[in-house]
Amino acid sequence: MQAIGIDIGGTKVAGAIVDEDGGIVRSSRRPTPARDGDALVDVVAEMIAELSGGEHAVVGVAAAGFIDAAQSNVYYTPNIDWRNEPLREKLEARTGASVVIDNDANAAGWAEFRFGSGQLVSDMVMLTIGTGVGGAIVAGDRLFRGGFGAGAEIGHLRLVPDGLPCGCGQYGCFEQYGSGRALQRYANEIADQGGIGLRLNAAREAGGLDGKVIGDLILARDPGALAALRRLGHAIGTASASLAAVLDPQRFVIGGGVAAAGELLLEPVREAFLEHLPARGYHPEPDFVIAEFVNDAGVVGAADLARIHLAERAR
Ligand SMILES: [Zn+2]
Repeated sequence: MQAIGIDIGGTKVAGAIVDEDGGIVRSSRRPTPARDGDALVDVVAEMIAELSGGEHAVVGVAAAGFIDAAQSNVYYTPNIDWRNEPLREKLEARTGASVVIDNDANAAGWAEFRFGSGQLVSDMVMLTIGTGVGGAIVAGDRLFRGGFGAGAEIGHLRLVPDGLPCGCGQYGCFEQYGSGRALQRYANEIADQGGIGLRLNAAREAGGLDGKVIGDLILARDPGALAALRRLGHAIGTASASLAAVLDPQRFVIGGGVAAAGELLLEPVREAFLEHLPARGYHPEPDFVIAEFVNDAGVVGAADLARIHLAERAR
């Protein structure tokens, strides 16, 4: 059975018909209307109509923010004015489709678990290192959502007591040390120091140290950029050690733009992980791998979760 997956991003809405093996049959994309929640409902409803061709469809919608445990309402999403938005009800009324809503990081993690780097394990943690840090937890072959649907917010695990302020209102969250934005901060600090930061500094003066410039310098093995990446990797490994103590996964999957660094990132992650792992040596240890999906994890995961959810509801 095919299902439709839709992933609402900050700049674009991506949608696709997805088969049972996670393959994309047909896809579509449109710009995300800035801040206007009603216009966004229109865009998603139109996309469902376009992809379903008027047939009854099973649809999974992935959105950033908090989704309720019933997968119906969006409690809160950043950048759009949805607050307790009954998204499922609105989309079902507009399109006649069967709809479920999920958090976007959950959907991406589920795609890796089912069709990507997380296959063959039962317990997995996905860390998506983008501008912020997204997380997904699979425990005993099931996606973990928490009792209210707002679980697996791994980016807001406290890593540094009284540390840097975070957009969530707290201080010292993992996201402030383990995200793409943190990598930029590390690169700027190293550029300020001269020495190995000389090329970072030159790049900054030539046009700025954005993720692309830092990524290119990492792949060119610039010592300053590699030092920044090591700091990032240490934060990710340290947070992963705490997660492993609680969740005992067999595998950590690292995704997001920074994952393009591959082994250069995984090496300091593993090093810091082992350094901080409680009771090291007395139990098996998880492995760390890079995510397989580059672009379509959100739509593929959302479609698969919708198919599973609706099959369970029908039983
Ligand atoms: Zn936070």
